[in-house]
Amino acid sequence: METINSISYPIYFNNSLAELANFIKAGNYTKFFILIDEFTGEHCLPIVQKHLGEDAVYDLIEVAAGEENKNIDFCIGIWKMLIDFGADRNSLLINLGGGVITDMGGFAASTYKRGIDFVHVPTTLLSQVDASVGGKTGIDLDSIKNIIGTFTQPKAVFMEHSFISTLPARQVLSGVAEMLKHGLIADADYWNKLKEADFTQPSADLVHRSVEIKNDIVIEDPKEKGVRKALNFGHTIGHAVETWSLDNDKNHLTHGEAIAIGMICEAWLSWKKNGLSEANLNEIVSTFRSLYPAYKISADCHKDLFILMQKDKKNNGNNINCTLLTAIGKCSIDHICTEEELCNSLNYYSS
Ligand code: NAD
Ligand code: ZN
Repeated sequence: METINSISYPIYFNNSLAELANFIKAGNYTKFFILIDEFTGEHCLPIVQKHLGEDAVYDLIEVAAGEENKNIDFCIGIWKMLIDFGADRNSLLINLGGGVITDMGGFAASTYKRGIDFVHVPTTLLSQVDASVGGKTGIDLDSIKNIIGTFTQPKAVFMEHSFISTLPARQVLSGVAEMLKHGLIADADYWNKLKEADFTQPSADLVHRSVEIKNDIVIEDPKEKGVRKALNFGHTIGHAVETWSLDNDKNHLTHGEAIAIGMICEAWLSWKKNGLSEANLNEIVSTFRSLYPAYKISADCHKDLFILMQKDKKNNGNNINCTLLTAIGKCSIDHICTEEELCNSLNYYSS
């Protein structure tokens, strides 16, 4: 499978961990560090270690897994470990994990000593098809997702498809939601292919196409001034639902489950406001409903969700913006949605 060139770095698909070992050798780094959580330490690190060889010298930095830990306290922990291990400006941080690790590790590296090199080795489907590509780094603060962060590109991304095999089924489906989003906003053929796919273990080809779609968009608009906002389809409502669930629900939603809800609501808004056909709406909604369990969102929480949407970093001023579809495979950005419209879309989801 072809290497994809992103803004300023390669995304490797073939023999990616051998490429990682070559990259480290060629980089002449003073030191390198591998950031893991307990699950990537167990499932992915031994495979990476095999490729790096027995004589590789590095330090491990481990943080506790989970979105609730993607915050400044854990980030300070990473910075302190880098200081304790003597990381200088010519050090490299390898982020081995899902989107929490790639977002937080990217942020920690992009700010440590005004920025050190980092690479991503994404280990969840979601981080392969989405979080590791495009240079957004970040952490959450006071229940606002990704509100603190930087646009900093990694030096390379290494996609190892076999990592998906140890992922819990729920986490695989979380990544599938972003793949379906890529089809909906940019490629109707891809959407049709995905609908036929084995969602328990999406093929490397399907992952590659998703990365291609995301990469084409971010190359055109790295800092999200325009076309990159297409990738926010489902995320205005989805992020609010995700945050609400993190704050209120012990068995909280995954990112993909939340944006699947967001995509149902925003597909309904697309039908209401942006010319999406009823047939397309029904196809989208039945696809998501067949893949993800129904989630109870009572009318009592609509106000809380609206307040969360108002805090979203995607807004301009006081307006709440959504990316809406015009058809399967096509979308348009910057649609202002009122509180009433957003609540009606949540009612549609619950109906
Ligand atoms: P995650 O990083 O929390 O990983 C999910 C779980 O899977 C964790 O418990 C993790 O330890 C475990 N895990 C990871 N790899 C594994 C493997 N190979 N085998 C077994 N278990 C494994 O979640 P995620 O869904 O990967 O990422 C979600 C995060 O990504 C969110 O914070 C979201 O905001 C962010 N994100 C960022 C961007 C971006 O452009 N920067 C895009 C999309 C999402
Ligand atoms: Zn997302």
